[in-house]
Amino acid sequence: MKSHFIMRGCRVKHIYSCGFVFVSLYWFMAQALFFQVMRVEGSTDQAASKSFMFPINLDPLQFLNLEAGVWSDFKSLINATKGYSSDAIAHLKLYFAQFGYLDLPEGMIASADFDDAVEAAIRLYQQWFGLPITGILDLPTLYQLIQPRCGRADVLESFFDINDRKKTQITTGIKHYSFFPGNPVWTSKRSLTYAFSPSLETTRVSTAARTTAFAEAFAQWSAVVPLTFKEISSYDDADIKIEFADGDHSDGQPFDGMLGILAHSFSPEDGRFHLDNAEYWTADMTSEKSPFAMDLESVAVHEIGHLIGLGHSSAKNAIMFPSLSPREVKRQLVDDDIQGSQSLYGASQSFQGSTDSFQSTNQTANGVFGRFLDLWLCWFLLTIHLLASFSHA
Ligand SMILES: [Zn+2]
Ligand SMILES: [Zn+2]
Repeated sequence: MKSHFIMRGCRVKHIYSCGFVFVSLYWFMAQALFFQVMRVEGSTDQAASKSFMFPINLDPLQFLNLEAGVWSDFKSLINATKGYSSDAIAHLKLYFAQFGYLDLPEGMIASADFDDAVEAAIRLYQQWFGLPITGILDLPTLYQLIQPRCGRADVLESFFDINDRKKTQITTGIKHYSFFPGNPVWTSKRSLTYAFSPSLETTRVSTAARTTAFAEAFAQWSAVVPLTFKEISSYDDADIKIEFADGDHSDGQPFDGMLGILAHSFSPEDGRFHLDNAEYWTADMTSEKSPFAMDLESVAVHEIGHLIGLGHSSAKNAIMFPSLSPREVKRQLVDDDIQGSQSLYGASQSFQGSTDSFQSTNQTANGVFGRFLDLWLCWFLLTIHLLASFSHA
């Protein structure tokens, strides 16, 4: 009787344990499913962000077929390392010097040798763009090098030492934006006017479409900082002077034809805003089919950032990131752009957004971490109850 009672008690406990095991198992499966969904979503985001920088499935043959304008000769440098010699290396040295990665005193002729200075410039470039730091001209580095881009330098004299700067970026997680030497801003006035050069105009885009594209680009910035922009007809009187120029246009920074350098503009309170007239400009990418089409408004938003005092940002999604691929449309300011401009001018009265992207990123990370904890807790409970179940069986 006693043993029967014990047997019954055991059976009840066994059933109870088994039930708990099943409940735990279902909970675990639900967690695993949820976590799998999170992981798939995360990897999709990651793939999307990587494809913006470098298409993973791009093979060397496809790369060699890419049109890169004046920088096409860089494609001959795939996997070049120290000791290699070629005219393309001399060209690359000029490129690195122009964008602040290599110190090439004015008047010095760049040699064709892949020397220590080139390797150091490549490493600096890879670090700035968040590429694997290899010191060789691998495919991801060359792919970034040939992307059409803004003519302003990435690494400016007044910047902190790039290594310290990178450390700061990693520590804070958000500050990728930069300013010009001395942090110039518009101090004499906050209501600015702009005008288009009557002689240096684009023929690719209609006047109406061009007017709208620039108005919308200026509006992006006036929505976040206390600056206003108004188009006027008098070019001479305008604070910001916009021209579509070809080749050498008398400011010591000649344009280079289609692709390559797209535009450049000057720091406050200069106001010069130049676009390369040789680009395949469009205001409407959906109706434009050319593989070389460049979105006018995307470039305008970027250059206006310079006109109000921002330098380049190493944040890939930022408007102030220096390159823009053909056919890419990137018109919206992101937190990094907004924080950079607001640290120069403060927020506009109408600005209501939050710019704390780092916090939200952290929260997302905590969310994933939390799921991990749940998963392990589930495993732990399952193991305990399985053991209890077997010991009673
Ligand atoms: Zn720029
Ligand atoms: Zn110019």
